[in-house]
Amino acid sequence: MTAVRTPPGARGAPAGGAGGDPICRFCAHYFVTWEASTPHGCRALGFKSRQIPSREVRRTSGDACRYYSPARRG
Ligand code: SF4
Repeated sequence: MTAVRTPPGARGAPAGGAGGDPICRFCAHYFVTWEASTPHGCRALGFKSRQIPSREVRRTSGDACRYYSPARRG
């Protein structure tokens, strides 16, 4: 079993990616763009990217995304 960590500032965020970044597909702000060059989108931060948005946040800011919000399910 893999330990799940919560990144600072992102309470309740499921983490599991490299560095404990939030998993965007569980986030209310995540969307699929259906664009081949930038298939992932983040509404909270207003960008589309080739990589998963939380990885892009980590790459550009050096910190974990702090805007994670659990998506409603069911
Ligand atoms: S707010 Fe953060 S966790 Fe949510 S989709 Fe954007 S980058 Fe991913």
